[in-house]
Amino acid sequence: MRAVVFKATREVAVEDVPDARVEQDDDVVVRVTSSALCGTDLHMYDGRTGASPGMVLGHEGLGIVEDAGRAVHRVQRGDRVVLPAHIYCGVCFNCARGDSAACLRVHPGHVGGAYAMPGMGPFRGSQAELVRVPFADANCVVLPGAPGDEHEDDFVLIADAWVTGWHATELAGVRAADTVAVFGAGAVGLLAAYSAQLRGASEVYSVDLIGERLDRAAELGFVPVDVRRGDPVEQIRELRRARPGARPPGEEEMGGVMAGIDAVGFQARDRRHPDREDPRQVIDDLARLVNPTGRLGIAGVFTATDAAPAPEGGHADGSLQVPWAALFNKGVTVGFGRTHDRRYTTHLRDLIISGRARPSQIVTHHETLENAPAIYDRFDRRVDGIIKAVFHH
Ligand SMILES: [Zn+2]
Ligand SMILES: [Zn+2]
Repeated sequence: MRAVVFKATREVAVEDVPDARVEQDDDVVVRVTSSALCGTDLHMYDGRTGASPGMVLGHEGLGIVEDAGRAVHRVQRGDRVVLPAHIYCGVCFNCARGDSAACLRVHPGHVGGAYAMPGMGPFRGSQAELVRVPFADANCVVLPGAPGDEHEDDFVLIADAWVTGWHATELAGVRAADTVAVFGAGAVGLLAAYSAQLRGASEVYSVDLIGERLDRAAELGFVPVDVRRGDPVEQIRELRRARPGARPPGEEEMGGVMAGIDAVGFQARDRRHPDREDPRQVIDDLARLVNPTGRLGIAGVFTATDAAPAPEGGHADGSLQVPWAALFNKGVTVGFGRTHDRRYTTHLRDLIISGRARPSQIVTHHETLENAPAIYDRFDRRVDGIIKAVFHH
């Protein structure tokens, strides 16, 4: 089968590799019809997470079940399925409570597993013609329709980008009438903002430093906040002050937002030196921006080992200095971590089917799998306005 293979830092190739096949009785093999490129793929591509040469990349796959082991009961050959990025067994101590990102069985000796991520198990990725799906009854979300139909791009975003964005709004406890700021207007950030909008937020601010992303944020109905124009915390406070009738007397202390989301992670840019990283920047900004009694959701990735930590604020073991006292004094609730796909995937699928949601509005590029090396390069350099690229196989 053809697959996108990691070769070395900033080098991928499309190569022939051994076909994915059923290895355990509860596996299926899926013929991939679409796979999406994710900022997390760049953590491997950029050589930050210690990926091994030869790794088949991709954790966002959609396709048709081609083969099934004899212990698979809930899905069958011919079913159209999307494959959540974080693999889980469905029945262990954590999965039983819906905490599927902390599955105890999928990667024995570890907590949680995923396709094509170093440290997350031996699972090959879905930027390939075929992918093996372990614990298939748990890890296939069955979908209506047929490959290439109007929902192809919507459904592929259930694999990771939208569930992660939705999870961020859960972590931040977003509810009706909340004011929300999302740092990062890549695919996950835009879909977190979109999720906040679906949940009834009254104001949604989308913070970034790339023009095309801010334009897309505005098109989707969020208030774009351009970091290149200065401190985003002051910009948002000013925008909120300027709204007619927005600030009744006595509510001055609540001029920030009730919910803040980090959709950037450890590769945050240092605002004073945008060519440099500072993994503390977004956390510092959110701690300043969030209102007393507010809530933060940290959905951007923070790696446990960083092969090239930022000279200011970075640390090879992922340690960070955070404004703990500010968060304590405001009484802020902070949620962290990877999305528990099991809780959300079928619900998000149904929002699409019912016509209530079109997450595919954030997809900017359609490509062939053979063109993956060029797209990785352009996405990594943040050129050509790539927000979300989908490979149609
Ligand atoms: Zn992803
Ligand atoms: Zn489990």
